[in-house]
Amino acid sequence: MMDFDLFVIGGGSAGVRCARIAAGHGARVGVAESRFWGGTCVNIGCVPKKFLVMAAEYGAAAEDARGFGWDVETKGHDWSALIAAKDKEIARLNGIYRRLLDNSGAKIFDAKASFIDAHTLDVGGQRITAERIVIATGGHPTGLGIPGAEHAIVSDDAFYLPERPKRVAIVGSGYIAVEFAGVFAGLGAETHLIYRQPLPLRGFDGDIRAALAGTLAGNGVTLHPETLPTAIALQGGGKQLTLNNGTKLDVDLVFFATGRAANTKGLNLEAAGVRTGARGEILVDTAFRTSIPHIYALGDVTDRLNLTPVATAEGHALADTLFGNRPRGVSLENVPTAVFSIPPIATVGLTEEEAAKRGEVTIFLSRFTPMRHTLTGRERKTLMKLVVDKATNKVLGAHMLGEDAPEIMQGIGIAITAGATKADFDRTIGIHPTAAEEFVTMR
Ligand code: FAD
Ligand code: NDP
Repeated sequence: MMDFDLFVIGGGSAGVRCARIAAGHGARVGVAESRFWGGTCVNIGCVPKKFLVMAAEYGAAAEDARGFGWDVETKGHDWSALIAAKDKEIARLNGIYRRLLDNSGAKIFDAKASFIDAHTLDVGGQRITAERIVIATGGHPTGLGIPGAEHAIVSDDAFYLPERPKRVAIVGSGYIAVEFAGVFAGLGAETHLIYRQPLPLRGFDGDIRAALAGTLAGNGVTLHPETLPTAIALQGGGKQLTLNNGTKLDVDLVFFATGRAANTKGLNLEAAGVRTGARGEILVDTAFRTSIPHIYALGDVTDRLNLTPVATAEGHALADTLFGNRPRGVSLENVPTAVFSIPPIATVGLTEEEAAKRGEVTIFLSRFTPMRHTLTGRERKTLMKLVVDKATNKVLGAHMLGEDAPEIMQGIGIAITAGATKADFDRTIGIHPTAAEEFVTMR
């Protein structure tokens, strides 16, 4: 008999959920985590990131309060206090993740795991056998191979900076670049965003991307579109970043937010015969099976849709399939997602550009000053957009840039997943006065 029915490598969003649910179904489960329980999201991702975004938002909110009669005076921001408060909360969450696993009956290993063969693992020097193995080892940030790259940081480092930089150059314009541009600019840093596209956030709806460029600039971020960095040099206690158009930026911090790669190195996948793709990601079928049928992979290590709720849904589905007598997969269609820029973006379904390739569409678009800013005077517009299939009247996509967008989009996501038509949106009564009601009143 093998030591475990299931062994999970990686205690992040996918691994913890899979191990916990499988153990709840009565399986003998082991789970190894080499760094911190809860993985990227809890420790160096979604959760601490959102704390930093909230911190940045308070600065503007304090100014805005004056529009409502408050006599507010801010005396600056204490970065160390923010990081200490964040670290305390993250430590609490680590404990919760560990306890959840413990209580579920899974056996916990604070260790690195790697394959010896397709049923045998080396877990911190211990030889362990398992009927089935799950690889949920996540990903890591990748920088650029330019001269002086060693002087740049990546998102993992950004959560532990000893002080808030005064001048920052962020390279990239994906989720992380856009979110941290909001954080640093909101906390008062001179912030540059260097990206190779004409607009930030490639893959998002064109109107949202254009509006985002406007709000970033409005928040004081200096945009460098269609630009690439070529070198970083140390200069007078700071860094000098050279761009391919000849510009030289003198900053305290260069931050590569240029994507992530799967954590597969060191797993000794060859010993088990698990195949990887061109980007190092583990290849899986719709049942999360790798090239070896009793070895599965979940979450970011498969590099498909790298979001926490996708990782947890996959972990849950696999555990239910294997041990809960409830076989199912996870659809990666119509997954709602948010970018926590300031103000945030949220989206579900197809962009106008994607939908137009499939057939004729009708676009409903609304741009307005949110109620709050009629009194604060802050130049900030909300943008809401519905992409509707002309033939069926089905809502194919919803997009928003504006305050509370992620909170609003979760509900719109249910409607789109359920196949709502524009007529269904139209016959829904709004909640007044909100921004959200615009989604049911656009004509
Ligand atoms: P991870 O959470 O990365 O977990 C993998 C775990 O495996 C890690 O803890 C690692 O230490 C461990 N491990 C690796 N190798 C081994 C080994 N050999 N042995 C033992 N353990 C090992 N998603 C959202 O939905 N919303 C957000 O707002 C959001 N914000 C983000 C912000 C940032 C800065 C980043 C980087 C990511 C963000 N994400 C967000 C993405 C989200 O964090 C990931 O999609 C999610 O964490 C993936 O979960 P996972 O379980 O696949 O991997
Ligand atoms: P993204 O893939 O979102 O963005 C990478 C950025 O780097 C893009 O702007 C890309 O440009 C640019 N880039 C890549 N290679 C180069 C290069 N060689 N030279 C210049 N620019 C380059 O990655 P992130 O690191 O921002 O985030 C990783 C993933 O983590 C996200 O995709 C998302 O799945 C997840 N995440 C989710 C969050 C959320 O849900 N709120 C928040 C943070 C992360 P181009 O567009 O031209 O390719």
